[in-house]
Amino acid sequence: MRTPIMAGNWKMNNTNCAAVELAKAVVEGSAGVKGCEIILAPPTTALSVVNEVTKDSPIAVSGQNMYWEESGAFTGEVSAQMLLSCGCEYVILGHSERRGRFGVIEEGFTEELQSVFGDNDATVAKKLKAAADAGLKPIVCCGELLSEREKGMTDAIVGDQVRAFLAGCTTEQLQATTIAYEPVWAIGTGEVCDADEANRVCGLIRGVVAEVAGQEIADAMRILYGGSVKPDNVEGLMALPDIDGGLVGGASLKADSFCALIAAAAKSAGGGCCCCGG
Ligand code: PEP
Repeated sequence: MRTPIMAGNWKMNNTNCAAVELAKAVVEGSAGVKGCEIILAPPTTALSVVNEVTKDSPIAVSGQNMYWEESGAFTGEVSAQMLLSCGCEYVILGHSERRGRFGVIEEGFTEELQSVFGDNDATVAKKLKAAADAGLKPIVCCGELLSEREKGMTDAIVGDQVRAFLAGCTTEQLQATTIAYEPVWAIGTGEVCDADEANRVCGLIRGVVAEVAGQEIADAMRILYGGSVKPDNVEGLMALPDIDGGLVGGASLKADSFCALIAAAAKSAGGGCCCCGG
């Protein structure tokens, strides 16, 4: 039995005051919930203040990215040790907004402008190993573009991404890792992946993990779905056996909707609220 995760990726939203308010509301709104691991990933600037709010609760804090070196002349980057010093337990790696894999080009932005962060399979693999070695738990993202799905390439693209970032990992690094399947066309678009299809791809990912790392590690690894998860679609996703939770952007920016997702994930695992029985 894998404990589900509900992880909120706030992206580049919330100054410190707003971050503290939102974190407080999530702590309050999720109090008493059992059976779901809750993670907040605020922007780097707000990690410490959010950690101050969550540190006496079961909620964990996550970075949204990191660099693999410990320190040095890497202007603008943060290391695993720096994230740990802000109270982080997790770090999101290889999000499509950093890989430069965009399905939708926003008005006023060129594809080039949206790809400036340039993460790729090789850099994500280095980050995963550095994060796990430092004691962080990496949440590593993978997913296909709409054009790749339309060409029937989903399984090959996702399988290759997972093989690339897991290659050469030690047992300890693998055991620390969570994978998030995030079809790029579903992120921030309101177009959620069909639940059975999301479950199928998460199952495929579990198969690749088994191939690389063995069945025991694959059975224990949490595999999340991300892409327009909302209170009205979360139950259908969480009911399926290979989906172990959600990586959530938009719906994590409001405490009400994020707490509804947390409650649904807890319920799917037979948990719920110890106070109200919900
Ligand atoms: C994400 O940021 O990883 C994400 C899935 O965003 P959204 O929930 O807004 O689609």
